[in-house]
Amino acid sequence: MGTRQATRSVARPARNVTTGIIRHLDELGRIVIPIEIRKRFGLGEKDPLEISVEDETILLSKPQTACVFCGRTARLEEHRGRPVCRSCIAELATQE
Ligand SMILES: [Zn+2]
Repeated sequence: MGTRQATRSVARPARNVTTGIIRHLDELGRIVIPIEIRKRFGLGEKDPLEISVEDETILLSKPQTACVFCGRTARLEEHRGRPVCRSCIAELATQE
């Protein structure tokens, strides 16, 4: 354990990596996410998960559905790939 992090790129910030859980895909390509992980991330039945690929790693994450600045979930627009609400966009625009 721990050797995997040591081989990662130096430029990458330190991450808390959990490894050692092996799950097998079923005939439809599905996997079961262990209950401990679902609990930790507050994932429930039918919740959406975003699948991304970073080099040779497949990443699963909760899609961001709240403004990165204030946490509002209404009137979101995307700015540089992140959700920002219109109030914060207006606020940022007046600060310049
Ligand atoms: Zn906002």
